[in-house]
This record gives sequence, structure tokens and C-alpha cells, in this order.
Amino acid sequence: MARPTTETELVELVRRARSTGRRVKAVGAGHSFTGVALTDGVLVDLRDYDRLLAFDPVTGRATVQAGIRLADLSRRLAERGAALENLGDIAYQSIAGATATATHGTGRRFGNLATGIVGMRLITGDGDVVECSADEEPELLSVARVGVGALGLVSELTVQCVPAFNLHAVEEPAPVDEVLGDWEGLLDDHDHFEFFWVPNTRWALTKRNRRTDEPARPRGRWERWRNGVLYDNVAFGAANRIARHRPAAVPRLGRALPSAGRVEYVEPGHRVFASPRLVRFLEMEYAIPLAAVPEALPRVRELVRDLALPLLFPVEVRAVAADDIALSPAFGRETGYLAVHVYRGTPHQAYFRGVEAIMDDYEGRPHWGKLHFQDAATLSARYPEWSAFQAARDRLDPHRTFANAELDRVLGP
Ligand SMILES: Cc1cc2nc3c(=O)[nH]c(=O)nc-3n(C[C@H](O)[C@H](O)[C@H](O)COP(=O)(O)OP(=O)(O)OC[C@H]3O[C@@H](n4cnc5c(N)ncnc54)[C@H](O)[C@@H]3O)c2cc1C
Repeated sequence: MARPTTETELVELVRRARSTGRRVKAVGAGHSFTGVALTDGVLVDLRDYDRLLAFDPVTGRATVQAGIRLADLSRRLAERGAALENLGDIAYQSIAGATATATHGTGRRFGNLATGIVGMRLITGDGDVVECSADEEPELLSVARVGVGALGLVSELTVQCVPAFNLHAVEEPAPVDEVLGDWEGLLDDHDHFEFFWVPNTRWALTKRNRRTDEPARPRGRWERWRNGVLYDNVAFGAANRIARHRPAAVPRLGRALPSAGRVEYVEPGHRVFASPRLVRFLEMEYAIPLAAVPEALPRVRELVRDLALPLLFPVEVRAVAADDIALSPAFGRETGYLAVHVYRGTPHQAYFRGVEAIMDDYEGRPHWGKLHFQDAATLSARYPEWSAFQAARDRLDPHRTFANAELDRVLGP
């Protein structure tokens, strides 16, 4: 294991590994559910390679070292009156790890996090430094933004930021059929809309966020802790432990799922998007055409009913704009994301395989950092720019210094 602090060290360790025939793998925050960041060679832990190198207030562009965590970056940008355009549910991830797997939030008009990358410095399998941006190697930039860790060690990223913004947030339950009936309308009405269908119930917990010029009306510390930690994590964790030992209690627990009812507040965007996640779980998430969501989710509901699964973890449904990044699950199509979860230690194979079979009917593309059962043969047909990615991989890592078992499976050896 190595914990480099400079780019020179990064280059040296790749060259040394190359000359001794070892493999190299970067790890960000280790928040992927798959073995995508595992290696039997040199594991490059980037936690100390985490500086904000430059911020240009005129262009709104920030250049950072690859290991900076999204929460840390958001805080530093806020001090400068700026923000990342969108975030997922958590902000523990490193920027390089999050973008490598096309991590996303929700919002029909917003792309995944990697779409904000405007420049990169990468270390190739031979230990050379390659730069790409709109002016220099634009084709490489287009591919490398979602590199799944296969194209090189990302050293630095330049990200397009936006002026800091507040979000007017409303969280409230609604009947799931009502939500599906107006899926695209709700997406149009809110900058960021998502919902969680609670298994074995007719209910969805909705999160509706609009960008606003209103001043902040933040939740009090107690309210924030009660909803974000006590209800969503402590009580939810306890309910899952009960469910594991007493599956018959699940329908009742599901109906009583802790919910504070309707909650409304105005806070800086990054504090609204990301919440603490303290309950451990396994997850699979699929990208399908946005318009297919109202048909696909009822099929998942039927599956849950038919399998009689003692499930409490909700199915999360989000939306992301189409983009042009070769291995982005949102490549070329407006995308709806469906994510299924189980409490750790719960058998997940039948559920996840069943959901995957449904997603296959919509040419589903799995999240690169989450569990699935596809391989290069099935995935290649779902990505029109697959061969452009493979050509970049052959050029930047011809000896497969950055390969591992997961990449052999999903990208091919
Ligand atoms: C609780 C939880 C909530 C989550 N919520 C969301 C969500 O809302 N939306 C979403 O889309 N995903 C979500 N995820 C998935 C998560 O965002 C991704 O798995 C992400 O890749 C994790 O980032 P990381 O820094 O931990 O990367 P890691 O898991 O450490 O690494 C991911 C990949 O990036 C590569 N990598 C890391 N750094 C570099 C580098 N410098 N150069 C080259 N390759 C590199 C690794 O080798 C690996 O291939 C969630 C995961 C968890 C556990």
C-alpha cells in the first residue's frame, strides 16, 4: 500500500510497479459495493492527495488533487461562494472515485458528476503524464471522464463549478401510483426530484428540491439530527435488525417506517443533497430510459411481492440528463435510475437477479460502483462508444497495469 502526497510519487510508483510486473489500483473512499478498487498489487490510497490547487472566480473552475472528498471540496467551494452543480446522497466519496464510476444525483436537467470535468491529468500505465481538456486531446477527455479506474491514475481534475445556491427542500410521503402517474411532470416542476418506494406498501417518500434565491431557513440542529441520524439511521437500522430475525414483522415495520411527515426547509445545496448514511447495506442500481420508469417500477413491485421478500430498504428512483461520455450509463439517453438495496447480511441474489432481468428488458446499464451480474459481453452491446473506450485503454494502459478481477469481468481482459 502507498499513501502518496505528490504527483512525482504517483509517477514513480507506477514506473516501479511496471518494471516489477505488479499491478496498481487507486482507491478513493472505498465506497464502491464491488471489487472495482481492489488489487493484488500496489493499492494507492489517495486520502493524503487531497488539495484544492486552484479556484478561478471568473470561470468558476476548480483544480483539485484526485483524492479530495466531495464534502471537503463542497465546504472549500462554499467559502469561495461556489458549489458543485449537483451531488448524490452522500459526499464521503473522493472526486476521482465518484467520477470514475459516473456517480450521480438527481435532476432531469443535470448530468452525472463526471459531466462537470473540464480537464484531467492522468498517469498512464508506463508512468507518463497525459493532460486532456477541450483544447488538448478533447477526444480523450470525452472518454476518460468515466474511466472506471481502467485508463490510468487520475492525478488532478479541473471541474466546472457554479455560484453557490440554496435549495428549497420539501420531503413528504405520497402514494407511489400518484408519483408514477406524474413522473415526468414532477421532474419538470423540480430541479431535483427523487423518491423512495417503501417495499410492501403503496407509499413513496419524495424529496423535492428547487433552487431558490430565498435566504436559508435551516433545520435546527435537533431536527437535522432527529431526521437525518435518528430516524433515517438509528431507528431504521434497528428496524432492519428486527426484520432479519422476525421477517413476519416486516409489513408492519414497513408501514411504520420512521417518517417525520412533511419537512420543509431552505439550506445551501450541498447540505441538502448529502445526508449521513450509517446503516450498512448492499446495492444494485440500473440506468434505463427515463420514460420507462413508470412501467419498470411496478414490475419491481410485483417481483418483491412474488418473492415475498422481507424488505425494508426502499427502492430509490432518480433522473439524470443524457450525456456524451463513452461509459456513462446516461450516454445518449435521458435516464431514470432505479436502485435496490438490502440490509447487510440479507440474501440478495434472488432479488437483485430478478431486478436485473427486468432492467435487461430496457437495455439497462448498471452503475459501475454497485453490484450487478453483467460482463463485458453483455455490456459492450449497451454502450455505442464501447470500442472508443477500449481504444483509449489500449493506448493508455497497454500492459493492463490498472486491471483487476472486476475490470477483467466488466471490461474484458
Ligand atoms: C452509502 C453510499 C451511498 C452512495 N450514494 C450514491 C449516489 O447517491 N449516487 C451514486 O451514483 N453513487 C452512490 N454511491 C456509489 C459511490 O458514489 C461510488 O461507488 C463511488 O465510486 C465511490 O467513490 P470512492 O471515492 O469511494 O471510490 P472507490 O470506491 O474507492 O473507487 C471507485 C473506482 O474509482 C477508481 N479510482 C479512485 N480514485 C482514482 C484515481 N485517482 N485514478 C483512477 N481511478 C481511481 C478506483 O480504482 C475504482 O475503480 C454510494 C455508495 C455508498 C456506499
